[in-house]
Amino acid sequence: MSGTADTPDAEPDEGHENHEVPVVEVSASRIAEVGGLPVARALPQRSRRTIGAWCFADHFGPVDSSAAPMHVGPHPHIGLQTVTWLIEGEVLHRDSLGSEQLIRPGQLNLMSAGRGVAHAEETPLGTTGGMHGIQLWIAQPEATRHGDAAFEHHPELPTTNFDDVVATVLVGSLGSDLQSTARTDSPLVGVDLRFDGRHTTLPLEASFEHGLVVTAGAVEVEGTVVRPGAVAYLGIGRRSLPIDGEPGSRALLLGGVPFAESIRMWWNFVARTDAELEAAFDAWQQGDASRFPDVASPLARIDAPRPHWLPAQP
Ligand code: MN
Repeated sequence: MSGTADTPDAEPDEGHENHEVPVVEVSASRIAEVGGLPVARALPQRSRRTIGAWCFADHFGPVDSSAAPMHVGPHPHIGLQTVTWLIEGEVLHRDSLGSEQLIRPGQLNLMSAGRGVAHAEETPLGTTGGMHGIQLWIAQPEATRHGDAAFEHHPELPTTNFDDVVATVLVGSLGSDLQSTARTDSPLVGVDLRFDGRHTTLPLEASFEHGLVVTAGAVEVEGTVVRPGAVAYLGIGRRSLPIDGEPGSRALLLGGVPFAESIRMWWNFVARTDAELEAAFDAWQQGDASRFPDVASPLARIDAPRPHWLPAQP
């Protein structure tokens, strides 16, 4: 999906507290609107820009897809991977690599922007029923962020039960047995949790920091209840995570090695400097097809807002 044009995402990576110990810090998501859908933006937070390389998380729905269809026209990305994950509904993805992919619940769409890519996402015509999911961005490290764009669809992902909690690994690995084959550019993990039962203990990588975004129900960590509309930062140094949930709850566990590069995020771009963001803005606005090739989409292309730090146009 497309980030909003407002400015808070563009603040420099300051005030980022790196905890060396396990904590549970709950921060409310910000309500935004993307392509006609209300979203709860769990990341970035003013006080916490990233969890590992995870730098953006928009939880959308549940809504009635016929009443509030998703229509996100062609828009660009640089320097990040988009992760689309559905709990309910269907979304059709089209991108400037020529990919056209319907995604359903339990499947992963992973698009790597590198130097530049454009995509569009929409509710397929005639879709009825609920629409519920999350879109996440992963900041690409220096080694890959100038590289080629790529797209992966994973129709099946490794899934197992921890007690009566069903864990599906989107990216990275959980414990020693469960590993996703999806591309990762830095050490990180993303796991969907479905609580059929109430309690389990998950194995974690102690060198990672972790966070939890609850997408349905209520989940409890060390006495703190986390509900949709918030992100819980869990700190670093945990080898395991005892976790409780109301049956029917869903959550995304996110983690990774704390991202060492100081990122600049603005609109749909992740970079390191204003000059890089301005160059991407210019390339998109000027229709530079060498950086952002066309997307075969019936939807209207989304104009980039003018970077707020530039002087107003004469
Ligand atoms: Mn997008």
